[in-house]
Amino acid sequence: MSVKPILIHPDPRLKKLASPVPDLSDDLRQLADDMLETMYDAPGIGLAAPQVGVSQRLIVMDCEKSEDAAPKPMVLFNPQIVAASDGLGTYEEGCLSIPDQFAEVTRPAEVTVRWIDRDGAEQQQDFAGLWAICAQHEIDHLDGKLFIDYLTPLKRQLITRKMVKLKRDKARG
Ligand SMILES: [Zn+2]
Repeated sequence: MSVKPILIHPDPRLKKLASPVPDLSDDLRQLADDMLETMYDAPGIGLAAPQVGVSQRLIVMDCEKSEDAAPKPMVLFNPQIVAASDGLGTYEEGCLSIPDQFAEVTRPAEVTVRWIDRDGAEQQQDFAGLWAICAQHEIDHLDGKLFIDYLTPLKRQLITRKMVKLKRDKARG
């Protein structure tokens, strides 16, 4: 397994519509494992393939927060939201592609997600709480959407400007 570099916004690869994964292969399973390692290393609770420069519909997540609990890594190929609650929830979101920036985003509080798991089996599960937020945030990445796209243009520009500066400073070393 290996940790992959995470793309930082703004980057055109983060704005692309990702393609469905056709058939599972060892390469794709390897990519999922690398993404999990990259996510834990960051550390983060979710990561989408476009964030490591792969335009395919694959996300990983682990929202188990309790330190005593065992890790709960999840690999979701072609994840789809098939139902969303009317009830909304607001949570302060962040993103590994937009480091150190956080803002409140309102989304459905519960979602039902269908996906293909690491073994190629179809799964469907209801998510609530942080898991529901994370699943929606990561699936948005597959559609080229970032959490800052939910903010006012002014807030979005402010954060984007900070990221441009961050990337420039990083490039300078
Ligand atoms: Zn993100």
